[in-house]
Amino acid sequence: MHAELELGLERRIGKRSAAVIEKHLGITTVGGLLNYFPRRYLSRGELTPISEVPLDEEVTLIARVISNSTRAMRARRGSLTDVVISDDAGTAGSGRTGGGLPGTLKVSFFNGFRAKAELQPGRRAMFSGKVTRYGGSLGLTNPDFLLLDEDPETPGLDPEKLAAMPIPVYPATAKLTSWSIQKVISTLLDTLELEALGDPLPAEIAAREKFLPVADAYRLIHAPQTPADWQRARDRFRYQEALVLQSALARRRAQLAAEEATARRPAPNGLLPAFDRQLPFTLTAGQAAVGKTLSEELAQDSPMNRLLQGEVGSGKTIVALRAMLQVVDAGGQAALLAPTEVLAAQHYESIRRTLGPLSRDGMLGGFGPDAVQVTLLTGSMPTAARKQAMLDAASGTAGIVIGTHALLSETVSFYDLGLIVVDEQHRFGVEQRDALRAKASKPPHLLVMTATPIPRTVAMTVFGDLETSVLDELPAGRAPISTHVVGLAEHPAWAGRIWSRSREEIDAGHQVYVVCPKIGEDDDGDFTPGEAEPSAADLEGENGARELASVTGVVEHLRDEPALAGVPVAPLHGRQDPALKSETMASFTANQTKLLVSTTVIEVGVDVHNATLMVILDADRFGISQLHQLRGRVGRGGLPGTCLLVTTLEPGHPSRRRLDAVAATTDGFELSQEDLKLRREGDILGASQSGGRSTLKLLRVLEHEDVIARARKDAQRIVAADPTLAGRPLLAAAIDEYLNPEKEAFLERG
Ligand code: ADP
Ligand code: MG
Repeated sequence: MHAELELGLERRIGKRSAAVIEKHLGITTVGGLLNYFPRRYLSRGELTPISEVPLDEEVTLIARVISNSTRAMRARRGSLTDVVISDDAGTAGSGRTGGGLPGTLKVSFFNGFRAKAELQPGRRAMFSGKVTRYGGSLGLTNPDFLLLDEDPETPGLDPEKLAAMPIPVYPATAKLTSWSIQKVISTLLDTLELEALGDPLPAEIAAREKFLPVADAYRLIHAPQTPADWQRARDRFRYQEALVLQSALARRRAQLAAEEATARRPAPNGLLPAFDRQLPFTLTAGQAAVGKTLSEELAQDSPMNRLLQGEVGSGKTIVALRAMLQVVDAGGQAALLAPTEVLAAQHYESIRRTLGPLSRDGMLGGFGPDAVQVTLLTGSMPTAARKQAMLDAASGTAGIVIGTHALLSETVSFYDLGLIVVDEQHRFGVEQRDALRAKASKPPHLLVMTATPIPRTVAMTVFGDLETSVLDELPAGRAPISTHVVGLAEHPAWAGRIWSRSREEIDAGHQVYVVCPKIGEDDDGDFTPGEAEPSAADLEGENGARELASVTGVVEHLRDEPALAGVPVAPLHGRQDPALKSETMASFTANQTKLLVSTTVIEVGVDVHNATLMVILDADRFGISQLHQLRGRVGRGGLPGTCLLVTTLEPGHPSRRRLDAVAATTDGFELSQEDLKLRREGDILGASQSGGRSTLKLLRVLEHEDVIARARKDAQRIVAADPTLAGRPLLAAAIDEYLNPEKEAFLERG
């Protein structure tokens, strides 16, 4: 990076301003402030529609003063100045201002002498503060304001031009207004020699895209004369952001590929061919194709780094197991990492079952001499069992080790770890992948699996350091799942029908899942830490006044439900003792428990073929992809599955649209697009993105697919030609800063 950008701010804007900026924005360097871009732009000639201003956030808006009155306060000394401001939408607008006129806002100032004098009717001003609602009307209390009509900075400018001039709006804080930030940045722009900065974008790309030179772009993003100015500047910086991100990923991919791994070649007389011979079904074409890719990559002496995306039920586990067997055949060990204990235990059981005589668990006989030992290792195992499992992993006795986060702990080591499989990736970030990789003496091969279909650009952004394979077909004979929204608001009688419907399934020999949003009557649910999915309450700012179904409450209720008399019902949730949890799962898998009432602990991966009905209570409390995952638990054994999305919300409630979307399609990809639209960007990237990366600034993964795709192509070309980016120091520096934004602050203090 250019040395100028790393310079301390006080050197360019003075100690006092620098101290203010550091205090309120945490920015200490020239580059930091230069890259603090406006969030949006107001048009000087237009008033901000008041009905669109968000509540309870720091906002900056332009309005016209309608009235101004001052009175003495009754209870204490001082005066109160009330100013009514408007967006000129007047009575025509359909603002949400209950009591007052549509499009008006009441602004109150305590001892507001300047407001009293300056905010005269007819004046236009910019206001900055938090809009709140009291009584029926919207208000602002003691906001900062700036009169617009007599702009001292632009004397003699023709009024039409002035009216068109955009005003940048910076992300402001309660103590530092957008226009104060603008002023400081304008000082900074005046003192810098922008032309000398140098451009992290390669010249040929800037020319191809007809981008503004970097100096002009900085000027125009902060001080545009016309809307076209900031748009051009923003296009450039957005692309730059995409290129920096994609180059970082491409470089990481190149670094990983350049590492040396142990080749794990297939063995003609090994466990894998024996396993394939005993497989009770034929692999789907997709499973066979992905299997071939994995087999070839495992046989290379550079590490495989692959993401396997597959719809719920597409049969990813078999694909992973076959890869693990190839590694075991070659003398290595394989680790399978699951996000929850329930899922780890389930994988352990089902993998041993699938392997049959090819597996041994170290206790029972009846296996061939070459059988592989499958070992479970979780944090909640009794100490003795865990110690034994750790010993087996370290000595190499265990060929396949299945576990949770416990596998990441420092005390766990392997004899010769050749392959790591991470199941249901969306809960494992880059750091965890690296922690696992560190457990092998040479870099192991890595297979990451995810059941949440990821839109292309998200995959490119979040998993851009991995190659991708997709399983897009379900095994033959998979029965369709029909999904229905059960609206109790309009059909209260259906509440009883849910349980008689459950009884019908059970009488036919099948089993039922009932999922609740809460564990007990008074808690917030069973959420895995780091879960990416926001709850419906997060999405809507609802505060949960409704009585929601809970596991304990429903189990209680079902005890007296005549339709289910005599049916073995069991609860399952994250707060239970692990031993009880696995006992319950085992009893359900063995078809002893007929109806399982649980939280979302069964969300991922649980595989009980005999279950045919999934009842989700207060389904509106769950996100789209969660619902899709949940219903993927039924319809697995060739028996048609049914999913009932039960809700007490009125038809037309925004949350019911999510349910309608889930009922309308079983295409996970379509649903994940839908889902992303409802989420905030940070939620998409936040959970999976780690390693100190800052969040995206100008890039939106859904909107800017073409920018991301173009930047990715460029990045691949650049990194292929120059893997360490030695010839592109400015780009390399921009990547470093992106990957480690704290670094500059650190350098500054150190
Ligand atoms: P997911 O991709 O959701 O993890 P699983 O690996 O759990 O799916 O597979 C779902 C079910 O489908 C399992 O019971 C598995 O044994 C079965 N299965 C996998 N592949 C096939 C196939 N080719 N034909 C029939 N059944 C299959
Ligand atoms: Mg799975």
